[in-house]
Amino acid sequence: MRVAVVGGGIGGLTAALALKSNGFDVLVFEQAGAFREVGAALGVGPNAVKVLRALGLEQELKNRGYEAERFEGRNWTTGESAFRVPMKGVSDTRYGAGHYQILRAELLDLLVEAVTDSTIQLDNRCVSVSNGPDCAFVTLSDGRQEAFDLVVGCDGLHSVVRATLHALDAPRFTGNMCFRAMIPASKLPPNHILPQMTIWIGPNGHIVTYLVRGGTMVNLVAFLAVHHWVEESWSNESAASDLVAAYPGVHSELKVVLDSVDRCFKWGLFDRDPLPTWSQGRITLLGDAAHPMLPFLGQGAAAAIEDGYVLARELALSPGDIGVALQAYEAQRIPRTSRIQLAARNQERFVHQSNRSSSVNSDWLYEFDATKPPG
Ligand SMILES: Cc1cc2nc3c(=O)[nH]c(=O)nc-3n(C[C@H](O)[C@H](O)[C@H](O)COP(=O)(O)OP(=O)(O)OC[C@H]3O[C@@H](n4cnc5c(N)ncnc54)[C@H](O)[C@@H]3O)c2cc1C
Repeated sequence: MRVAVVGGGIGGLTAALALKSNGFDVLVFEQAGAFREVGAALGVGPNAVKVLRALGLEQELKNRGYEAERFEGRNWTTGESAFRVPMKGVSDTRYGAGHYQILRAELLDLLVEAVTDSTIQLDNRCVSVSNGPDCAFVTLSDGRQEAFDLVVGCDGLHSVVRATLHALDAPRFTGNMCFRAMIPASKLPPNHILPQMTIWIGPNGHIVTYLVRGGTMVNLVAFLAVHHWVEESWSNESAASDLVAAYPGVHSELKVVLDSVDRCFKWGLFDRDPLPTWSQGRITLLGDAAHPMLPFLGQGAAAAIEDGYVLARELALSPGDIGVALQAYEAQRIPRTSRIQLAARNQERFVHQSNRSSSVNSDWLYEFDATKPPG
């Protein structure tokens, strides 16, 4: 079976790897000319780590990632600790895998190395997809058209594949934006950033800091509720002074961190409502293309990683009947990802309460093991 994966992000590359591991012939079309990423990191929760383990990548993830000791909530005005939750070691015993923090670029590298270059066609932008009588077509911006047994749209929030299947349901601006920055730990006073994930909680916003790259870099994500629209993009550079100005009156310990930022990027945060179905004929969706969500649960990439594994498993179980495989894929993935999408949306009211005294309950997210067949 020949499968086209449209989009070489975390979701598309995981799907490509899982499909290849199951013996499928895969081609990834990625619009970018190179896997270049702006400086940003993400947390890989234990549910995603279980999938990466099954794909043989857990050790590399451990080698390149960082494992925070704990998760601490602090009031961003007073600096008072609101809650502390142990992570390192505990995540393994409680959820069956660790919880790692890693640069997006490092995670992409790890996946690209495993998928291998010959599977990936860079500089290939898909402009449309369509179903044929017993194949599906991908049309690229240079006019080329190729036929496949299956096309998987992994092309993110502004998915061309989704637009083909589901008309034009525009992404919803959620009224939130965020700044992201990477700071060399050496720019801060020694041990200023503890080996933990810290969430500084304020009214109408929160700021997350954690270490990556063996503790040498600090990842900062600063969320803010706003009224105006901010363009969604991976590379919208912003003045560092805008970041500082957006958070007046924060605790001196946090102010030092904000003041140390030289370069930052800003994102508007968008999501969409869950879809009742993802597939049409021989075309389906995966990752943000299928279920874009607010990042308040840190699960967008994790859900995309789970999707890729389940899709490959179901195709391997019913290789002669793509319709049956896609039905099984949707039956396993839509209920879970819809729940995460809506929970992430509901989370907004909770994460922006400066008087909150507990962390988010993530048990149902982290306990899940997509590598175990259902039932
Ligand atoms: C502030 C923030 C913090 C986050 N933190 C976390 C976290 O801690 N943990 C977590 O699990 N998730 C997190 N996420 C979510 C996560 O980043 C996304 O859910 C994840 O990147 C989605 O992966 P994807 O592969 O589906 O889409 P994308 O990463 O958007 O990749 C899509 C790919 O498709 C390519 N593409 C697009 N259109 C085309 C086309 N027409 N033709 C060919 N190629 C195309 C793009 O160039 C891109 O490479 C966070 C998100 C944000 C905004």
